[in-house]
Amino acid sequence: MFALRRSLLSAGRIARPQQVARFSSASALLQHKAVKPAEKLSEVTGPESLIGTSAAPGTVPTDLEQETGLARLELLGKMDGIDIFDLGPVIRPQHSVKGTPDDPIWVPTYDNSRIVGCSGTPHGSHEVQWFHAGVDKVGRCDECGAVYRAYELGADEEAPHH
Ligand SMILES: [Zn+2]
Repeated sequence: MFALRRSLLSAGRIARPQQVARFSSASALLQHKAVKPAEKLSEVTGPESLIGTSAAPGTVPTDLEQETGLARLELLGKMDGIDIFDLGPVIRPQHSVKGTPDDPIWVPTYDNSRIVGCSGTPHGSHEVQWFHAGVDKVGRCDECGAVYRAYELGADEEAPHH
């Protein structure tokens, strides 16, 4: 994993051969307007910036050169040590084992609710029950009665404190 990341990082430092300037003025204008593919997480401006670049002729493309879309977003995140698709921690109740309305199991969401799969305490002690846990409305497991509540993840928001 570390070796992979190192090779990706060094791949990112290889200077790309200069594009041969052979566009007519009209296509040069279009070229100028094209979004630059992001090669770092900080350069991502939208879906259009998540297009792969190209490998030098005669070389096998690296992941950084060819990955596109969400796979590229994930790759750029990993190069920066950020796990894009890892939401955040599930926060265990402070005083109860299972989670109660006043002391729920907190689950992260980017929305105002999410689907939770409960398999009991300890894990696997009952069949998985699926239900919604909201930011404003708790979710309760029919099988074991554990209570879950969602907390919203945002740029400036932190996990709830007890
Ligand atoms: Zn349960």
